[in-house]
Amino acid sequence: MSIKTTWDLSPLFKSEHDPKIEKNLKATEQAILKFSHIWKKRSDYLTNVSVLKKALDEYERLMRNFGLTGGVENYFWLRLKIDSANSVLKAKSAKISDFENKMRNELNFFELNLATVSKQNQKLFLKDKTLLPYKHFLEKIFKTAKFNLSEKEEKIIAMKQSPAHIYWTRLTSELLSKEEPVVEGKKRTFSELFSLLENKNKKTRDEAAKELNTIFKKLEDIGEAEINAILQNKKINDELRGYKRPDESRHCVDDIESKTVDALLDAVMSHFNISKRFYALKAKLLKLKKLEYHERNLSYGEIDKAYSFSDTVKIISDILKTVDEEFYQVFQKFLTEGNIDAFPKKGKKDGAFCAYDLLSTPSYIMLNHTGRIHDVLTLAHEFGHGLNNELIKKKQNALNFGTPMSTAETASTFLESIVLSQLLLNVDDELRLALLMQKLNDDVSTIFRQVACYKFEQELHEEFRKKGFLKKEDIGKIFQKHMKSYMGNAVIQSPGAENWWMYWSHIRYFFYVYSYASGLLISKSLEHSYRKNPEYIKKIKEFLSTGLALSPEEIFKKLSINSAQKSFWENGLQEIDKELKEAERLAKKLKKI
Ligand SMILES: [Zn+2]
Repeated sequence: MSIKTTWDLSPLFKSEHDPKIEKNLKATEQAILKFSHIWKKRSDYLTNVSVLKKALDEYERLMRNFGLTGGVENYFWLRLKIDSANSVLKAKSAKISDFENKMRNELNFFELNLATVSKQNQKLFLKDKTLLPYKHFLEKIFKTAKFNLSEKEEKIIAMKQSPAHIYWTRLTSELLSKEEPVVEGKKRTFSELFSLLENKNKKTRDEAAKELNTIFKKLEDIGEAEINAILQNKKINDELRGYKRPDESRHCVDDIESKTVDALLDAVMSHFNISKRFYALKAKLLKLKKLEYHERNLSYGEIDKAYSFSDTVKIISDILKTVDEEFYQVFQKFLTEGNIDAFPKKGKKDGAFCAYDLLSTPSYIMLNHTGRIHDVLTLAHEFGHGLNNELIKKKQNALNFGTPMSTAETASTFLESIVLSQLLLNVDDELRLALLMQKLNDDVSTIFRQVACYKFEQELHEEFRKKGFLKKEDIGKIFQKHMKSYMGNAVIQSPGAENWWMYWSHIRYFFYVYSYASGLLISKSLEHSYRKNPEYIKKIKEFLSTGLALSPEEIFKKLSINSAQKSFWENGLQEIDKELKEAERLAKKLKKI
């Protein structure tokens, strides 16, 4: 079997000139118009089970075979990732975007109408056996329906979204990114300043932090006005829709229960000692008395072991073979069928991802492999997403193809972690410690920092709702309180850092940061059970095959897990505690502390 290291996109289209592109667009438009023509004028599917079944079957087929663009949008999107300066592709892609919006508007009516089904019929539909494949799809629509407003009101809310939210956040981020201070004699962009914070030279990183503080100080009044407008707009929307807590709309959209998120927050907060111990260890390893706020991500040690792409493929293949034969087979398929684009090249975008489109077309993974150990873990991570997609495709219909936000990063981080553990077995103690510190830094940022951020957001909305306006000094105090809560005394809440919430774009999307923590902790918890009994992989596969067919809570129930219980989340935290203990042991053994 020969491995391909560039994408073979021919299962989609042969080239940008392939006549099949126009043919697919036309066929998609016809199918969507036909669907809307038939169902727009009917309302019997809102009261009659068998008519609803027929409508949903047709809707599912539409999504399975065509989506909104017949696979065309996905094709140009992928091509542009590899050839980002190609203006022909850009122009075609923009045209497809318009087409996609038009098609989306054409179909909008269907789910909006489903939301108007009477309470009595909702119960009937959810109990009906023939509608079982669509049960959770309907359940989600019915559940969020009570927060919907009238069509007119929805239109007003949608229209005011730009002036009330988007233009404000754009103002802050554009003003921040315009700043170009000089550090060490060179002009630096806003994002370059952040990479300088990880510089091994203390003078350099302190200077970069000083410049960042100056920028935030200069723009703090604008930041204050912006965030108050954002908080006010959110409050108005929540009141109109009838949400009781500021984070309820997030839970609703993400198909997760508030008590599950609360149990997660509770578990992580009661283990903040893990992140505190981590920063204390890092400060000692770096021979610093304490870390400044901006130094928290400094790396420890040198990680210079190299892995060629074929080494990487061999390592991951061997591990997958021991975990599950099907995992291994799917990986081989990705490698031999050209679903992975491995190496950096001119015009190719940075980073890595795994993209999927229709149930009937392949997933594609993009990498920028340069031979670092990080690249090995990246392939494991992205393949986790790809594997997840393939497992869902086998079992689910097109309306259930996808993952809930709270579990989207479970398969990826699970495989990443399994591969890392294997790599750690084959390196010396020095490298092992450096790798563990890097891994722990990622875990602390993904779990503890995001939970602290969530708590910061909660307090921000609650205080705003009490007071009606928050002064920048108040915001700074709340921010530093929550940062200190997980960092502890080894990290100084440095003067100036009280304004660092300003660039944190996540808080403008409201409460979605919990999903970083939940994805990783679920995977750690599953890993915990898998390590105890490798047979557990069968349950993990079942979990990964479910897609959107059940809510996260129901999936867990099937695995006999109660996710509203703190102890479930604590299993995952135990795994991190184990890694930290190992790092502490190695640091002592190597006489580094
Ligand atoms: Zn991911």
